[in-house]
Amino acid sequence: MIHRNVTLIILVGAPGSGKGTLAQYLKEKFDICYFSTGVLLRNEVKKGTDIGRSVERIVESGGLVEDSLVNEIVRKNIKDIEPEGKAVILDGYPRTKEQAQFLDEIDNGALKQTIKVIELVVDNEEVIVRISKRRVCAKCGNTYGPMDKIDICSCGGKLIKRKDDEELTVRNRLDEYEKATLPLIDYYSDRIVKISGKRTPEENARVADNYLCDWGIERRR
Ligand SMILES: [Zn+2]
Repeated sequence: MIHRNVTLIILVGAPGSGKGTLAQYLKEKFDICYFSTGVLLRNEVKKGTDIGRSVERIVESGGLVEDSLVNEIVRKNIKDIEPEGKAVILDGYPRTKEQAQFLDEIDNGALKQTIKVIELVVDNEEVIVRISKRRVCAKCGNTYGPMDKIDICSCGGKLIKRKDDEELTVRNRLDEYEKATLPLIDYYSDRIVKISGKRTPEENARVADNYLCDWGIERRR
């Protein structure tokens, strides 16, 4: 069960903003428990739960998993998090204002006060360049950025480039991202910090590092 004194960190950033790389970095440096909705979705599918079967049907037909389903998966799983430290990173959720409102209402608003949001602001053209350097694990789906100088995932899977990462697809995804995310960012305006400008992944990491220290999150020893 998640506690009121836990900090819930939400990373917001366009595809290719370096969000995955930053999450990876923070999880290694800080006493943080990591919670990715992508992984949870895949787990539900693997376990063959009712939710998992619905997700599988939608994904197979090429559709998008709707808000209400993702919300249910988060509600179901977030209560089981036993944070080893004082913070949780929520990766891939919320993506919309409606999801953020749902999250704020879980357990009568128990989580609401614990939420801190980090937005990675980047230039679209720069994102397109970054995405072209991105690779994913063929086995577990983990994303790897330019900071990762390896060809094999920690799970043993091979790192490959995805068709999704081609330019036109990326441009469409960026447009969709902006449409969905502007209301979200607005909703979080009282809890958001921004990392902006043309920064390297190392600089993003350093800035975020300072925020986490300010929030009293402890480093791993
Ligand atoms: Zn892997």
